[in-house]
Amino acid sequence: MKNYISFEPSIQPEITNENDMYFLFDQNKMMIKKDKKYLDIIRYQDIVNMNIKIENVQYMGTLNGENCFSAGIKKIDSSIDDSQFMDLKSLMLILDENLFLAASKSYLLLNWEKSHKHCGVCGFPMKRKESLSERALICPKCGYTTWPRTSPAIIVAVTKGEKLLLAHNKNFSHGMYSVIAGFVELGETFEQCVKREVFEEVGIQIDNIKYFGSQPWPFPNSMMVGFTAEYSGGQIVEDGKEIVHADWFSKDEIPGMYRESKSIGSELIKWFIETH
Ligand SMILES: [Zn+2]
Repeated sequence: MKNYISFEPSIQPEITNENDMYFLFDQNKMMIKKDKKYLDIIRYQDIVNMNIKIENVQYMGTLNGENCFSAGIKKIDSSIDDSQFMDLKSLMLILDENLFLAASKSYLLLNWEKSHKHCGVCGFPMKRKESLSERALICPKCGYTTWPRTSPAIIVAVTKGEKLLLAHNKNFSHGMYSVIAGFVELGETFEQCVKREVFEEVGIQIDNIKYFGSQPWPFPNSMMVGFTAEYSGGQIVEDGKEIVHADWFSKDEIPGMYRESKSIGSELIKWFIETH
């Protein structure tokens, strides 16, 4: 599993320049520059050249040494035609993993500020905390402070000898199968969550739970923590609510809709194929 290695998060840039990258969103779509045949991230000089008015600017850190900013579009000339707007799901298919993670971070930061305009305790308008060491919003009236949050979720590849457990969720497209996943509940450990989700969704017991890797996942705002585990007992009984069909598949039987993507779910299936 690849990690978030090229990105160095930070709050405040040391020096900014016209080449700084701007992960610029208009609602839920990011602006991408069409440069002849290449697609590229908007740079500060493009914002100036295209006379784009931006808002909610936040510094995110550096990617391979280049400054990355998050910002929303306040006003843009509608006649600009060497750019296009794409949602995160489409960006995931075309951007390199680190650029995609930076784009996700920008989207999540913008949504975090947008959804925390008022104090959750007293209702007063929130302000950015003036700090070089942390990113937070603070209520000037009562002092309530809030930080960008992520929701932990588990994803697990359960094996039984030479077979892998795959399930079809009612929200999946036709013929698509994946490994089991679900959100961590309050007060629960990852290991408890892995056991609970597998039991709730398909009715089997597992053991030998091992950490696999992790991936920030912006749909909607999760941290996917991946595991492998082994079957230890029970018969598959689909919950009928989320999981409509589940079964054991050998590596040659993995349903056709599986395709490699940048998701940790695909990485787990790839791991199974390579090791079984
Ligand atoms: Zn308050």
